[in-house]
Amino acid sequence: MSDVHHAASAIGSGGSAGENEPGVAEARVRASEDRYRGIVEDQTDLICRFQADGRLTFVNEAYARYFGTTVEALVGTSFEPRVPEEDRARLQRALSSLGPHHPVTTVEHRVALDDGRIRWQQWAERVVLDEHEKIVEYQAVGRDVTEQRQAEALVGDQVRILESIAKGAPLTDTLAELCRVVEAHIPDGRCSIMLLDGATLRHGAAPSLPAEFVRGVDGTIVGPNGGSSGAAAFRSEQVIVTDIEHDPLWDRSRDLAAAHGLQACWATPIVASGDDRVRGTFAVYHFEPAAPTQEHEHLVGLAVQLASIAIEREEFEAQLSHQAHHDPLTGLPNRTLFLEFLMLALARARRYHTTVAVLFLDLDRFKLVNDSLGHDAGDELLVSLGERLRGVLRPGDTVARFGGDEFTVLCEDLSGAGARHQAVEVAERLLEVMKQPFLLEGEEQFLSASIGISLGATGEERADELLRDADSAMYRAKERGKGRWEVFDEAMRESAMARLDTENSLHRAIERGEFRLFFQPIISLTEARCVGAEALVRWQHPERGLVPPYEFINLAEETGMIVPMGEWVVNEACRQGARWKTERPRDEPFSVAVNLSGRQLAHPGLANQVRDALEQSGFDASLLCLEITESVLMEDAEATIVAIKALKALGVGLSIDDFGTGYSSLGYLKRFPVDFVKVDRSFVDGLGTEAEDSAIVVAVVSLGHALGLRVVAEGVETEQQLAELIALGCDDAQGFFFAPPQPASDLSELIARSRPWRPPGASVMKG
Ligand code: C2E
Ligand code: CA
Ligand code: CA
Repeated sequence: MSDVHHAASAIGSGGSAGENEPGVAEARVRASEDRYRGIVEDQTDLICRFQADGRLTFVNEAYARYFGTTVEALVGTSFEPRVPEEDRARLQRALSSLGPHHPVTTVEHRVALDDGRIRWQQWAERVVLDEHEKIVEYQAVGRDVTEQRQAEALVGDQVRILESIAKGAPLTDTLAELCRVVEAHIPDGRCSIMLLDGATLRHGAAPSLPAEFVRGVDGTIVGPNGGSSGAAAFRSEQVIVTDIEHDPLWDRSRDLAAAHGLQACWATPIVASGDDRVRGTFAVYHFEPAAPTQEHEHLVGLAVQLASIAIEREEFEAQLSHQAHHDPLTGLPNRTLFLEFLMLALARARRYHTTVAVLFLDLDRFKLVNDSLGHDAGDELLVSLGERLRGVLRPGDTVARFGGDEFTVLCEDLSGAGARHQAVEVAERLLEVMKQPFLLEGEEQFLSASIGISLGATGEERADELLRDADSAMYRAKERGKGRWEVFDEAMRESAMARLDTENSLHRAIERGEFRLFFQPIISLTEARCVGAEALVRWQHPERGLVPPYEFINLAEETGMIVPMGEWVVNEACRQGARWKTERPRDEPFSVAVNLSGRQLAHPGLANQVRDALEQSGFDASLLCLEITESVLMEDAEATIVAIKALKALGVGLSIDDFGTGYSSLGYLKRFPVDFVKVDRSFVDGLGTEAEDSAIVVAVVSLGHALGLRVVAEGVETEQQLAELIALGCDDAQGFFFAPPQPASDLSELIARSRPWRPPGASVMKG
C-alpha cells in the first residue's frame, strides 16, 4: 500500500520534498510529479480521491470528461448526490469496511449524469492512511460498466420472456413486456407492437404510448402510406422515419402523431421463422426527430425475434385448439365445442329468459352408403351434408358434427311460446335440404335423416341432458318411420326415466344374482324324444317379479351388461347340463342350447368364457349348442367371424336362430360352420294356413338338409303345426305345444324318463 500512499501523496499534496539540495531536489520532484500526473491523466479509467463525506479532493481529466465538466468544477464538491438513493448504502458499506487491515475493496453503483441518464460504474476503492494508520482519505479507480450491465440485463430479460412464452402467458402480456424491456434500454423511445390481421395492422401492445394515439392507428392499412409500421409490413423491411412531420409515409396519420408530440418512428417487420411471412411490426417512437443507433437496432432485432416466437406459439396454440374443437373432415365444431357452446347458450337463456333448442340429426342409411360405395364416398357425403346444413341455418345457429353420421344443431334466442314452432321449422328446413340428391361417385343418391329436438326453456337444463333428450327423440323419429322429426316430450322423459331405472337395477341384478335360467325342451320329431333344452334367461326382480327377456335384453345389450350376464348364463347352463347327464339313467345325449347376442360375440373374451364354463362344469362341449341370430351373422363383422371360429374350435355346436327373418340368402349359410338352423316362429305360425309360410319352411328344411344341417322349428303351438313339420321332414321342434320354458327342476323328471315323448293328445308322433 505504501507505493500508492506515496504516489498519491505526491500527486495530491503537490510534493513535500525533504531534500538537501533544494534546486535539484525540486526539479526531481517536479519531474516525478509530472510523470505520475501524465500517467494519471492519460488514463481512460476514472480516478479520484475524496474525503469520508464524499467531497472530492482530486479527479483526473477522464473523470471530469465523463461527467461532462471540468476538473476545477468538480474538486471540492461531493459525488454522493449523483449516486441514486438505493445504491448509497451499498457504497457506504464498502467504504466503511476499509481500514489498515483491509485497504482495498471493489464496489459497483449507479450514477446519474447531468442529462438524467443513469450509468453503471465499477470502482476499486483504496484507503489512504497517514503514518499513524489513520484514514486520511480514499482513492478510487473506476470505469463505466453500463453496457456490460445492460447486456446482462438483456440476457436476463430474454430468458424471462422466453420463460413466460413457454409457460403460455397471454400474447398481449408478452408483447407489452417486450415493449417495456426495449424502452428500458432506449429511455426516450416508446414502443408499439402491431399484429397483422388480413390487410391491416391491429393493436398488439403499446404500454407507454398515449391510448388515444394507439386507438387512432389501430387498423392501419398495410401499404405505402400506412405510416412507418404499415410501410414496414408492406415492404417486409425496416422503415426509418426520422421526421414524421415531413415524411410522405405519414400523410394519413401525421396530425394524429403531431397531436401527441411524436416526431420520429422506425418500424421493423416481425417475420415468422417458419414461412418468412410478416406477422406484425415493432415500432419505436421518439418525441423528437431521431434515428436508431446501431445498439438500438440490435436490441429491437432481439425483441422482434422474441415477438415472432410469441406470435408463432399463439398461432400454434390456436391451431391446436382448433383441431381439438373441430372435426377435421367437415371443419365443423366437434362434440366438445358444441357442448361448450350449449353451456354458454344455456347461461344466456337463463339470464335473458329465452329458449334454447338442440336438434339431433342422424342419417337414416349411412352405413349402407359406407358399405356399398366405400368410405371415401361416405366422407364425401358427410362433407357435403355439413355444407348443406350450415347453408340453411341462421347466422347465429351452430351446427356441429357430433360423431359418425350424427350432426347437432344449436338454436338460440328462441322466444318462449313460439320456441317449439321455431325449432320444428329449423328441423323441417334441414329435412328439406336433404331431399336434394347427393352426388356420390358420379351417381345421385337419395338420403334422409331423422331429427330429434329438445328444448331448454328455463336455462336450468343441463347441456348433456338436452343432448340426451334430443337423442331419445331422434330414436323415436326413427322408430316412427325415419326421415322425420320428433320433439322430446314428457312421455319420452318418462320412458327414458324408466329405462334409466331398469339400467340401474340391471347392474344390481348382476351383483345380487337376480337372474334365473329357464329351460324349454327340444323334441326330436324323428325319435319322438326330448333331446335337449334351450336355456332362456329370466330376471327375478324384487318388485316387478319375473321379468321376461324382451324387457331387458336390449338394454343389457346396449349397455354392455349382456357380457357379464351372458357369462353367468353360459356357466349356469353348463352346470345344469352336467347335472342332467348324471341324472339320466341311460347314455342318451342331452344337449343344452344357449343364446348369444351380437355384443357377446364382439367381446374378445367370449371363447375363453365358454371354455372355462365347460371345464368348470365338466359338461361335454359337443352337447353345448350356441344360438346366434341370423341378423347378427349378417352384420358380417370381422369380430363375429373370428369369434365363431374360436367357438367352433372348442367343439361346441352352433345354430342360426330366428332363421328367415334376416332375409339372408340360404347360400349364405355355407359361409358359417353351423350345425343347426332354427326356423323362426313367425313361419311356423302360418304352417298349414298360410301358403307362403309353408313354402318357406319347405325351402329351409330341404336346403338345410342339403347343407347337412339339422332343422329345428320354434314356437310350435298346435298339433296341426306339428303334423306339418313332421310331414316336411323337420328334425326337431320346440314350443308351447310341448312345454313352455320352465325351471330346470321342473324338467328333470321329464328328462329322466327318457321315454318317447307323447304330449297329451298328440296322435301324430311316432313311438
Ligand atoms: P329366442 O331365442 O327366439 O327364444 C325363444 C322365445 O320364444 C322364448 O322367449 C320362448 O319363451 C318363446 N317361445 C317358445 N315357445 C313358444 C311358443 O310356442 N309360442 C310363442 N309365442 N313363443 C314361444 P323368451 O324366453 O321370452 O326369450 C325371448 C328372446 O330373448 C329369445 O328369443 C332370445 O333371443 C332372448 N334371450 C333369452 N334368453 C337369453 C340369453 O340367455 N341370452 C341372450 N343373449 N338372449 C336371450
Ligand atoms: Ca334362441
Ligand atoms: Ca328364435
